[in-house]
Amino acid sequence: MDYNQPMIAPPPAEREIFCNRTLNLRSIKAIGYDMDYTLIHYHVEQWEGRAYDYLRDRLHAAGLPVSDLRFDHHSVIRGLVIDTELGNIVKANRFGYVKQAWHGTRPLDYDSLRSGYARTIVDLTEPRFIFANTLFSLCELSMYAQLVDLVDQRKLDPSLGYGNLYPLIKQSLDAAHMEGQLKAEIVDNPSRFVADDPDTVAALLDQKRAGKRLLLITNSEWPYTEAMMSYAFDPHLPGSMRWGELFDVIIVSARKPAFFSQHNPVFEIINSEGHLKPVVGSLGHGIYLGGDAWKVEQYLGLSGDDILYVGDHIWGDVHVSKRLLRWRTALILRELEGEVAANQAFSADQQRLAEMMSQKRDKEFALSQLRLARLRAGKSEPNAQTEALRTELIKLDNQISPLARASGKIGNETWGPLLRTGNDKSLLARMVERHADIYTSRVSNFLFQTPFAYLRSPRGSMPHDPGQPIGG
Ligand SMILES: [Mg+2]
Repeated sequence: MDYNQPMIAPPPAEREIFCNRTLNLRSIKAIGYDMDYTLIHYHVEQWEGRAYDYLRDRLHAAGLPVSDLRFDHHSVIRGLVIDTELGNIVKANRFGYVKQAWHGTRPLDYDSLRSGYARTIVDLTEPRFIFANTLFSLCELSMYAQLVDLVDQRKLDPSLGYGNLYPLIKQSLDAAHMEGQLKAEIVDNPSRFVADDPDTVAALLDQKRAGKRLLLITNSEWPYTEAMMSYAFDPHLPGSMRWGELFDVIIVSARKPAFFSQHNPVFEIINSEGHLKPVVGSLGHGIYLGGDAWKVEQYLGLSGDDILYVGDHIWGDVHVSKRLLRWRTALILRELEGEVAANQAFSADQQRLAEMMSQKRDKEFALSQLRLARLRAGKSEPNAQTEALRTELIKLDNQISPLARASGKIGNETWGPLLRTGNDKSLLARMVERHADIYTSRVSNFLFQTPFAYLRSPRGSMPHDPGQPIGG
């Protein structure tokens, strides 16, 4: 890309910034960034695959018969929910109704799904349900499903039920030892794990030139942050500029979401070895470990809607920063890119589907009216006219179902689109709407929109709006 020429054409649809609540970037004075899967994107199959291997090896060392298991990244997506009571992985709609479910690695048939969830709504405040917030959750989902199979095959200790499996996975994954080992491997061979995107660096340079104060707020620790940011940013910066010069404040080991919800001690990192000095008084331009959002606001002399925070964790990055501090929020959803492109490719079929659904509604209306008119006349038997309508409806359904099936596989063969369940919005979509002012596939999409963009939300649609299509 020639950064010295103005861009003429708007970006392709999959690189757009989508807007839930209108955001004027000109009025944003500071932009904070998360690092992992936000400023730095990892090849999911590689990162999660290695994380899965470490997890499996630890479980194996603890005596579980898991050595043959492999990470299946096609079978899991962000936004799914683990139901630890029934050993299922489910996808719910915006109201929490379960629309798809797998028990272990097998799909639940319609009747079992109905009987399992007829009276159960996914309520994420209940400890029973575990929500897959980020791409980091994928290896946990895959492992959970496979361990449920082992429970059903009675291959695990009988004291281990569905409910014990998730804490076991979490304990094994959280182990600092594993994270240290995995990160050392990534630092040794970053090109295998990190997806290069020089446009991210260009977008941040533009924001800095336009007078925005940039912040890096990451849960990763200093040596890893320094290694990853140097690898991904330094080659694309002008002259001898280093990545640290882009940021006014850098905060590592931030412990989000607690960073946004409670006051925490803070230390200054005084050299590249990571030596620490306690902070007396307020923060300054520098590199820190720990701390909290109030200290950052105090240093910047800014608060609330002066600050935009950009992250990929729906809870730890965007929910808490919005709810407690009223910061403006941007969610990074990398998978959106493939999904928007697939939706574009499907749009002619989607239109045909909507037309056929509209025909179906008209015919069902006509059939019901006919039946009622005949009932009023004391005739309950079908006649030639009702039979003809029924035949037409069956024909129509036969045309509709393959298209509806294809529409339900957009984005992922098994689970379909990230932000939809059938015709409705998914639970993830509801959370994105509530907590993220804007959402987009990657940080470099800010390059197309410039630091001066006025991002307007579309007029929210309601079922009673004129011309609302009947779904397929
Ligand atoms: Mg992150």
